[in-house]
Amino acid sequence: MRFDICTLFPDMFTSYFSDSILKRAKDEGLIEIRIHNIRDYSKDKHKKVDDTPYGGGAGMLMTAQPLYDCLMAVKKINSGPVVFMTPQGKKLTHTHAKRLAMNNESLILLCGRYEGIDQRIRDLLVDKEISIGNYVLTGGELATMVVVDAVSRFIPGVLGDEASAEEDSFSRRLGGKKEYPHYTKPAIFEGLEVPAVLRSGNHAEIAKWRKEHLR
Ligand code: SAM
Repeated sequence: MRFDICTLFPDMFTSYFSDSILKRAKDEGLIEIRIHNIRDYSKDKHKKVDDTPYGGGAGMLMTAQPLYDCLMAVKKINSGPVVFMTPQGKKLTHTHAKRLAMNNESLILLCGRYEGIDQRIRDLLVDKEISIGNYVLTGGELATMVVVDAVSRFIPGVLGDEASAEEDSFSRRLGGKKEYPHYTKPAIFEGLEVPAVLRSGNHAEIAKWRKEHLR
């Protein structure tokens, strides 16, 4: 699956995508991530990408021209939908992330900054809008990383144990509920003991305990 990310802050992505599970997924060709700097597309002689909003009000807006040219260039190499990250979008859920992965559709992810983007870009080029929650971040970069991470977990082979995304919180196997408590060694820590049933080796009893302790 391919993700093309349009941002004013490309360096923010370097560390997150260069470690751990997503790095391995990239190395194995299961996902492909390309970062595009919107500022590179500005036709302004100072590479300006923002301006004051018509009608007044606080803050600046990302101007249409660099966004338009950047997205049009990326659309030539990625035929997937343009997804704008915004608190006004559809809330990302387990089901939503899974569906995006199952469609195996490439995505173009657009990160807003300042007070957001010129509405005409939304009208002309944006196909979907995703929010990662009812709060406001300083920019869409973190939200984009959340989407890439949550979607990638559902791509076969990305997680070492392929079954595990289906046994995590919100999965159908857990009835949409949140996972039971986990424990590892030692058996007693700071006076707190691991429930005896989990050390019993009785798989039926362990499954029963876990089911009873879904949250
Ligand atoms: N003025 C906007 C509003 O009230 O909805 C908030 C702008 S926010 C400071 C700047 C950018 O961060 C947004 O354009 C969006 O790309 C991103 N962003 C902020 N919160 C987000 C969220 N909860 N989910 C997804 N993206 C978010």
